[in-house]
Amino acid sequence: MRKKFIAGNWKMFTDLATAKKLTQEIVTLMAGNNKVDVAICPPFTYIQAVGEIVKGSNISLGAQNCFHEKEGAFTGEISPNMLADLGCKYVILGHSERRHKMGECDVTINKKVHAALASGLKVILCLGETLDERQANKTNDILKNQLDGSLAGVNKDNLDSLVLAYEPVWAIGTGHNATPQQAQDTHAFIRSWVSKHHGAETASKLIIQYGGSVKPDNAASLLHQADVDGGLIGGASLKADQFLGIIRAGM
Ligand code: PEP
Repeated sequence: MRKKFIAGNWKMFTDLATAKKLTQEIVTLMAGNNKVDVAICPPFTYIQAVGEIVKGSNISLGAQNCFHEKEGAFTGEISPNMLADLGCKYVILGHSERRHKMGECDVTINKKVHAALASGLKVILCLGETLDERQANKTNDILKNQLDGSLAGVNKDNLDSLVLAYEPVWAIGTGHNATPQQAQDTHAFIRSWVSKHHGAETASKLIIQYGGSVKPDNAASLLHQADVDGGLIGGASLKADQFLGIIRAGM
């Protein structure tokens, strides 16, 4: 039985005061609740402050991106080791906003995946098709390419440090979520890819989150699909009551 895992991606939102307040609210509302694993991923600049508040709680800390080198002359970049040093357990890689707005390709993402795993971080790897690709019935081909590319050279032993997040690009921040059936079918396809490459047992343990306009009122039907093991939550993770509403729907 896979434990549900809900992660909040704060994107480039909050300021220091709201980041601290939001974190404190989530920690308080989650006290004593261990039925679902929960992580929050603030902007880099607030990771340390948020980390101090979540210390000793049941909320894990994550980051939204990293570079693929440990250290060096890479102005403006952040290494996986720096994130681990701040107490991050997770890093989100390959988010659609990085793929489509920052031009990241699977080769770049693959380097980051290897670097993050080598530094002991767990990776939340995002995958997803555009609306045109779904309408052209290319969803599974696109996901296969993203999985082949982003996970090239990642071996079975590393898969317990991997979470996959299926995030259809057309559902992120749009208010149009995938239907529970669309999510289930796509998650089952992703799990079958993992099974083919890394074995059925590994696939059966892998957490696959759904992301894309998850709100408290649509969360239960998505989260209760057989192959949907949690959610990656953008907008609704910025309000403690909405985030908790989604977490409760996953119980
Ligand atoms: C995301 O940023 O990963 C996301 C799913 O955003 P939203 O929940 O706002 O669609």
